[in-house]
Amino acid sequence: MMDIETCLKKLGYVGVLDFATVDEDGAPQVRNISAIHYEGTTLYFLTARGKPFARQLKADGRIQILGYTKYKETIRLSGRTVEVPEEEQIKWRDVIYAEQPYLENVYPGETKNIDTMFMLKDYTIEYFCLSTRPITREYFAVGNAEIRKKGYCISEDCIGCGTCQGVCPQGCIEEGSPFVIHENHCLQCGNCFENCPVEAIRRY
Ligand code: SF4
Ligand code: SF4
Repeated sequence: MMDIETCLKKLGYVGVLDFATVDEDGAPQVRNISAIHYEGTTLYFLTARGKPFARQLKADGRIQILGYTKYKETIRLSGRTVEVPEEEQIKWRDVIYAEQPYLENVYPGETKNIDTMFMLKDYTIEYFCLSTRPITREYFAVGNAEIRKKGYCISEDCIGCGTCQGVCPQGCIEEGSPFVIHENHCLQCGNCFENCPVEAIRRY
């Protein structure tokens, strides 16, 4: 069983994470960020005020942060960022600069005043591991975030024919009335959905 603390620790070990936003045209934008500080379950990170990244965060706030470990684990954080209050900006900026001295080469001396700090307090975590058999998928909610279900479930329309079991690459469908998908081991590939003869499988 995974947990929130371990997920964040793993992301800390990965170090450089992908941060995805959407721009003013709704187009995806992704970049690597290493200037991150973990304070409990809150993530603080910095960028420069003039960058499109900062503008997108101010305008929209939604973000997805993703790290991939050498154990074939994907850890994805989804939530809404807020700018750190003015009176705390310097404090958290200095924490990150102390943890990551290379930043002084990027913004030496007073030039670092162009930096601005954002924080992520409320978010969901999706943990997805491909090195287990069957695969492992778990969700966690941090702060006020709510988990939005993804994947597939089997409805009462199931006639018990067993076709879905035969096509499931992870063997994560259990016989029953109706049959049941074990979501923590589901790839969300949709093979069961496409092959059910009575359309009893629903997408969340
Ligand atoms: S294929 Fe459809 S009807 Fe057959 S067992 Fe699976 S869910 Fe039920
Ligand atoms: S979506 Fe794919 S992995 Fe999940 S239960 Fe259906 S066939 Fe199996």
